[in-house]
Amino acid sequence: SRPRVVMTVRSGVSVGVAPILTKLEKDCATPLPVLRHVADAMAADVRAGLAVDGGSDLKMILSYVDTLPTGNEKGLFYALDLGGTNFRVLRVQLGGKEERVVATEFEQVSIPQELMFGTSEELFDFIASALAKFAQKEGEKFHLPPGRTREIGFTFSFPVKQTSIKSGILIKWTKGFVVSGTAGKDVVACLNEAMKRLGLDMQVSALVNDTVGTLAGARYWDDDVMVAVILGTGTNACYVERTDAIPKLPDQTSTSGLMIVNTEWGAFSNGLPLTEFDREMDADSINPGEQIFEKTISGMYLGEIVRRVLLKMTKSGLFGNSIPEKLLTPFVLRTPDISAMQQDTSRDLGGVGSILYEIAGVNSDPSARKIVVDVCDAIAKRGGRLAGAGIVGILQKMEEDSKGRIFGKRTVVAMDGGLYEHYPQYRSYLQEAVTELLGTEISKNIVIEHSKDGSGIGAALLAAANSKCEHHL
Ligand code: BGC
Ligand code: MG
Repeated sequence: SRPRVVMTVRSGVSVGVAPILTKLEKDCATPLPVLRHVADAMAADVRAGLAVDGGSDLKMILSYVDTLPTGNEKGLFYALDLGGTNFRVLRVQLGGKEERVVATEFEQVSIPQELMFGTSEELFDFIASALAKFAQKEGEKFHLPPGRTREIGFTFSFPVKQTSIKSGILIKWTKGFVVSGTAGKDVVACLNEAMKRLGLDMQVSALVNDTVGTLAGARYWDDDVMVAVILGTGTNACYVERTDAIPKLPDQTSTSGLMIVNTEWGAFSNGLPLTEFDREMDADSINPGEQIFEKTISGMYLGEIVRRVLLKMTKSGLFGNSIPEKLLTPFVLRTPDISAMQQDTSRDLGGVGSILYEIAGVNSDPSARKIVVDVCDAIAKRGGRLAGAGIVGILQKMEEDSKGRIFGKRTVVAMDGGLYEHYPQYRSYLQEAVTELLGTEISKNIVIEHSKDGSGIGAALLAAANSKCEHHL
């Protein structure tokens, strides 16, 4: 572990600051009993949410995905992915068991800020026109029998009450989206209307959450995938459930006896170690009281929590007498910044100093930088460990229902999202918590596998599986 820099009272910096750090570390602590409580509560909430709608904080949304990709999928499919930071369109030529993914192309754009605060029509017009432009550039390596309507797998990464595999009503926006006029509407109908306005003839064959797309995409290559987790701007998990374990499932909705269930675990709130900074951030947020787990562990919020801690520390002299004006702006410190600061291994933490200068406009000495890194670490550690506990909670519930199904053999958790991908300390804390909770023997069977951008291909595969057309020509 990193050497502790000995604090001097020389500049007076540490006098008021150190107790803030100590209290933060205490309030954020996730010792084994806390992790265990979170895992148990997650398992209980999963169960209660499956029993009846509204049974717990977890919506436990039925995906209507009851067949997992087999590898036999064939044909040309499009996918749309609207989630947190980016919007992506892709096309995939599936070639069946032998050839698998014959060709794939994608384009990605970051979602313009103003669209996140605009109207539903504006957002869906933007999506449809990006799709139209992309579809125009369909090259020769992609084939579809003439006259056939192009089909889309639509990954829509927000809580949607599915009414079928290809329709669903937006329950609410999350992750900073406040688009007016979509909540309560069928998002596929919204997209269809926008496509119609453009004269674009394509049709949605599958509407899926990003977790569901990720699970399907990973399962295409690996039969042991049972759970998918997103740790990016927002967070969520889904898993393969047995229909006889879903009391709220209407009769005969599944032919296979299985269904992917989208937990919407971002709304989990039971027994989390929260600080004054979390409470204030939540109160100031656009969705107070909602998505508490997401606000504690996901990428949109970690930097903001750190900013709030640093702001309090500056009032106690962290950076001398200057209150860095720039730190007053919510969300200026982003999670990639706190990750970057944690990667600095130099003696004087010069890299941390540059980032602080760039973002907060302050000059810092090495002892102040060390405190900043400790704050980042406390927040990342809590986030990573709680995410690990959440994963164990889901696995534990599945294992309780049939002993040995999960812990007794190789089980894969497909993982995607920028937070997991780009924050090594967060990733190790997550793994550490899983191992602590399950013990070394069982945790050897649980493989957390990064499935980068799997949700796009996954959505295309689900469009293929649910296509009404015959693609096996
Ligand atoms: C949404 C989920 C989504 C997750 C990850 C959350 O804010 O509610 O539907 O899966 O973010 O993108
Ligand atoms: Mg995404």
